[in-house]
Amino acid sequence: MPSVPKEIRTYCPYCRKHTVFKVKEYKAGKRRSTAWGQIKHELKTKGYTSKVAGKVGGIKNRKHIVLLLTCTECGKKRYKVLPETKKKLEIKR
Ligand SMILES: [Zn+2]
Repeated sequence: MPSVPKEIRTYCPYCRKHTVFKVKEYKAGKRRSTAWGQIKHELKTKGYTSKVAGKVGGIKNRKHIVLLLTCTECGKKRYKVLPETKKKLEIKR
């Protein structure tokens, strides 16, 4: 289980200097079923069609963890992808 500290000191492109960032795990939001891209995708994957991009294949249970960093000075958010692929993340206190 990879562990990251609660606060990270890294470069902020908005403040143009190193600042302290609060660390949170990024989780994708709920998909809107009325979004045009989502309707298109559902129509494509519906029924007995052959190879379609985005069709569910083998399920992977290991993913790259994405961190959501919030700058404590300007409040802007940044993403950071961890190089390891793990199931769970632990944020140190
Ligand atoms: Zn900043």
